[in-house]
Amino acid sequence: MPELPEVTTTVKGLQKVLPGLKIVSVWTDLAKKNQNIKQFKDTIKNDVFFKKFQKIITGEKVINAERRAKNILINITGGHTILIHLKMTGHLLFGEYTKVVSSKQKVVGGKKTKEIKWIPKNEGPLNDPYNRFIHVVFSFSNDKQLAFCDSRKFGKVTLISSSDLTTSNHLKNIGPEPLEKSFTFSKFKKQILLKPIWKIKTILMTPSIIAGIGNIYSDEMLWLANIHPESNPSLIPDSYLLKLYNSMKKVLFKGIDFGGDSMSDYRNIHGLKGDFQNHHNVYQKKNTVCGKKGCQGVIMRKVINGRSSHYCAVHQKLFN
Ligand SMILES: [Zn+2]
Repeated sequence: MPELPEVTTTVKGLQKVLPGLKIVSVWTDLAKKNQNIKQFKDTIKNDVFFKKFQKIITGEKVINAERRAKNILINITGGHTILIHLKMTGHLLFGEYTKVVSSKQKVVGGKKTKEIKWIPKNEGPLNDPYNRFIHVVFSFSNDKQLAFCDSRKFGKVTLISSSDLTTSNHLKNIGPEPLEKSFTFSKFKKQILLKPIWKIKTILMTPSIIAGIGNIYSDEMLWLANIHPESNPSLIPDSYLLKLYNSMKKVLFKGIDFGGDSMSDYRNIHGLKGDFQNHHNVYQKKNTVCGKKGCQGVIMRKVINGRSSHYCAVHQKLFN
């Protein structure tokens, strides 16, 4: 799942290409008649909402793009913000596409419809097989498209009033941003201790405690801080917590510097891979010798609260 560094990479890319562009149309094959399904109600997966969405955003211009936790926020004129959450496999692509209506028909909701595919106009990274699952397309006044590629279709696209950003249901329960200067060590410690009996790995990955951290980066920061993922936060000494705070920043900045992690589906807006997956110390390194200087440990994998966790039991100390 894309985490803070991947979403930051995407937003930086969008900020270079989108401001000033006018939205001329929006297309999706995700909108269905599912009015009774609560989780889709306020998203474009609901056909009534999508029609409204289409009407409001068409003709508006992009002001800028920003990030909040793992959410991509595209602010447009008219006082609205398009919110996109990539979830498991989503990523955004920007380029020139051709809409191709297939001669094949498929049955959707009892109705026969022709299959529509969006094909990149030019040879290049947008043709990477991971970039072919296009389910939402925004077309702009410069004949370019912003495409939402999402093989597993868990992603979320919705619209909120720009003035209600922080209070909207989509964003109101999100914890502090780990890379903000105002997020000091004492604030970090206070957040970590909100759940004193949870395991530290689970705490780091809980968005309402700290925003934007998922499975890959939590494993990497715990490895760097010499803390076992099953440690009990109230028993971790301050010296270790401080190391975790610094490791958190270091690992997230490193992820951004490498353009994100593409061990799974993630690609940047030009369809290219990030490089962080080639610099893991621990994530998905099971049975390899620990790379910590002087450590003879072997990386292990264990499922903790339903999420796979990778660690070295030799140098990562267990506090419990
Ligand atoms: Zn080790």
